[in-house]
Amino acid sequence: MFNLNAFSIARIPRIEFGAGTLSKLPDIARAFGHDLLIVTGANSFIQSPHWQTLKKQLNDHSINHQLCVVDNEPSPELVDDIVNKFRNSQIDAVVAIGGGSAVDAGKAIAGLLQIENSVMDFLEGVGPELEYTGPATPFIAIPTTAGTGSEATKNSVLSRQSFDGFKKSFRDEMLVPDYAILDPDLLASCPPGLIAANGMDALTQLMESYVSTRSNPITDALALDGLTAIKNSLLDWFKGNNSETNRAQMIYASLLSGINLAQTGLGSVHGLASPLGAFFPIPHGVVCGTLVAVATQINIEAMKIREPENIAIKKYANLGRLFAENQSLSDDEALIELDQYLTDLTNNMDLPLLNEYGVRSEQLDHVVAHSRGSSMKTNPIVLTDDEIRSIVFKRL
Ligand code: NAD
Repeated sequence: MFNLNAFSIARIPRIEFGAGTLSKLPDIARAFGHDLLIVTGANSFIQSPHWQTLKKQLNDHSINHQLCVVDNEPSPELVDDIVNKFRNSQIDAVVAIGGGSAVDAGKAIAGLLQIENSVMDFLEGVGPELEYTGPATPFIAIPTTAGTGSEATKNSVLSRQSFDGFKKSFRDEMLVPDYAILDPDLLASCPPGLIAANGMDALTQLMESYVSTRSNPITDALALDGLTAIKNSLLDWFKGNNSETNRAQMIYASLLSGINLAQTGLGSVHGLASPLGAFFPIPHGVVCGTLVAVATQINIEAMKIREPENIAIKKYANLGRLFAENQSLSDDEALIELDQYLTDLTNNMDLPLLNEYGVRSEQLDHVVAHSRGSSMKTNPIVLTDDEIRSIVFKRL
């Protein structure tokens, strides 16, 4: 246990967890009214038998629904278009069923349906950054991937993708979903590449929240539990054991990673994910997965040189002992184990290099210049531009 300094825990959703819990949606939604806007991804959910079952259950509960589809990481324009289409409809609650893209889009749509603004009015770091005063329409988040934890966060990540683009958040506590329904059955169709990228997103969020300068005893406990779940299940699921246990452990880890990131902020990997995801067509989880091992090495090296008393060194050593399942390791031995575990996981799950997405060394100044957003501010040590550049360079 570390020092018990002052901390606060912000709002989290009501949570329903377990195989088959999608069937609770009609009763939960009915408490808000009869008319739903359902936001889904391009096809995985609406082509599954779960959708046919859910439609019948909604019908049995006399609940009407309208549907809209988010087929990629969402842009401000997509969110505004959907809001403009449905603003004058009767919508008692928004339900997002899909990966982080559908959940983030649904979150922003729920935040805007009852007001006249464009989402650009509220995005951090671009536009006028007006204060969001709501009201938000009730929102229920149902993830079908295990990685972003967006079902537990107060932010919706939106991007305009080009070399001069951006990836920024619409963030407010009013946007935290009212309910998160976590049903591991919905993850059964995830292919290995998605399992790897999402799993590394959750792992990164848990690790970065654990060593964040804003971490606290509650988020520490959640991080360690989530990382244990990842150690027990991620690689096994990736390699083909599509068991309910593996899926449940990963969606649990993802949930904890979302709860944590909303409390503590993140670190250098997510600081870089913002420009890399905006400037190049790289899925968010791939950015996290490919960078987390080298970013951890560079954090530890920088702290050993400039801040040898930084508590995060001991915390990284705790993670080494956790992954090695050996509590008797010294801190130095544990840091070596941590590096080995992260490097092996990156290699064993074939996380791609960034040059596969068109990232070139001569573009790195532009990336580094846009990496010091909100996530970088809670990295356990302030990294130099050269250190940030070398994180990306090592994974080109
Ligand atoms: P995604 O939602 O973009 O989905 C990726 C692909 O997987 C899509 O083609 C989707 O249709 C498919 N898919 C989804 N569920 C599936 C399933 N069960 N079976 C088969 N295919 C399925 O990917 P993601 O990684 O879940 O979300 C990424 C987005 O989440 C990014 O925009 C990222 O910035 C955002 N994010 C948000 C937060 C937050 O706190 N708001 C945190 C982390 C990431």
